[in-house]
Amino acid sequence: METQTFANDPENVIEADRAHVWHHLSQHKPYETVDPRIIVEGKGLRVWDIKGKEHIDAVSGGVWTVNVGYGRARIGQAMADAVTKMCFFGGTAGTIPGAQFAEMLIDKMPGLDRVYYANSGSEANEKAFKMVRQISHKHYGGKKQKILYRERDYHGSTIAAMSAGGQDERNAQYGPFTPGFVRVPHCLEYRSQDGSLGEEYGAKAAQAIEDVILAEGADTIGALCLEPITAGGGIIVPPKGYWERVQEICKKYDILLHIDEVVCGIGRTGTWFGYQQFDVQPDIVTMAKGVASGYAAISCCVTTNRVFDMFKDDSDHLGYFRDISTFGGCTAGPAAAIENMKIIEEEDLRGNSVAMGEHLQGNLHSLMEKHKWIGDVRGMGLFAGAELVKDRQTKEPVDEKYVGAIVADCMAQGIIIGATNRSLPGYNNTLLFAPSLIATADDLDQVTAGVDEAITRVLG
Ligand code: PLP
Repeated sequence: METQTFANDPENVIEADRAHVWHHLSQHKPYETVDPRIIVEGKGLRVWDIKGKEHIDAVSGGVWTVNVGYGRARIGQAMADAVTKMCFFGGTAGTIPGAQFAEMLIDKMPGLDRVYYANSGSEANEKAFKMVRQISHKHYGGKKQKILYRERDYHGSTIAAMSAGGQDERNAQYGPFTPGFVRVPHCLEYRSQDGSLGEEYGAKAAQAIEDVILAEGADTIGALCLEPITAGGGIIVPPKGYWERVQEICKKYDILLHIDEVVCGIGRTGTWFGYQQFDVQPDIVTMAKGVASGYAAISCCVTTNRVFDMFKDDSDHLGYFRDISTFGGCTAGPAAAIENMKIIEEEDLRGNSVAMGEHLQGNLHSLMEKHKWIGDVRGMGLFAGAELVKDRQTKEPVDEKYVGAIVADCMAQGIIIGATNRSLPGYNNTLLFAPSLIATADDLDQVTAGVDEAITRVLG
């Protein structure tokens, strides 16, 4: 691959990083011997590290964020213009970019009305949980305060978000967690316990949610929080009919439906939001990563006016949503988000996600024909997973060390892919792909050719 050199003294940067930066999700030991990976430049789908090595990035900045790709000067310019004029005003005030982006966003979300700004996916989810709890206090005598979440789903790294975390390995050693969060089963058809498939499996998976509601008491449950398509838990596209039935259940028991679009939002699956792939109308939607494609830190908790109006009671001096996020008053976030959304529209990146998503699925299915280790390929748009098993009959997962070795082999080839990692006990066996929505067929062919080689080298 092409290499590039950089004027900054790489050794100094590497040593400063090694001495003082605590990297996310990283074991310490390797840093004693392996240089930290420092990414210094990006253009389109490609990034260069500090040693000048070029990588093709099939996971949008490592964590599925850079939906419009790297090097978009117009987003940088929009942010510079916004912060030069008015960088920040927090608390009870609004800003021009904040109002403009909210209007653009709501236009893409029929049935939703209000945007509450924050900075990360975890934080947006915390806002939603707080809304649900306060609604319970204000309107249900404090009784309807439980929040249901699903096995394998992830909603963030803060303690309450982890209390809603369906990935046990992620949660290990961080308890005790916040009370009032109750788990419902996952909906991964490939791992159907009784052999039912398709719509039948979808109905059973939704029924499993209703069973939990009935066991807990519907009058104690304020909200159901789900990812539209489970991301880090293994790219789980819910079976046909599932979402529609989930919606009916929520309506039946007066339970708010909170959909976490932190990953699927802003075009990832080919629609603006993942839930728009299904016939479902949420009450609360949270989003983060793709909102400004990582050019700025911004997240949103979007609600209906019905939810908003539940806080409209001037007679209760504590009755409004008494929440704040200091940096929810930054203009850089919404300014970047406006430009990001314009790019997606002008370049039809949702259309590209659909077309290139089919190409990616096709490539992964071809790999499945060649490698007996791939038990299942699933996904939607430019969002895909390949689950690795020892045996297609028993579906026993391959050991996670092989999955790690495949990811590392790809990395050595200059191809960045992801995997379910230290999240699901026994099931860290799915390779993950979520390239920027600008990916071309050539890019994807390059990625899957590298994966092909890596699987051969690691598993034979
Ligand atoms: N929700 C989902 C579905 C996520 O995948 C993530 C992060 O990966 C989050 C929430 C948390 O977002 P953040 O890391 O910005 O707090």
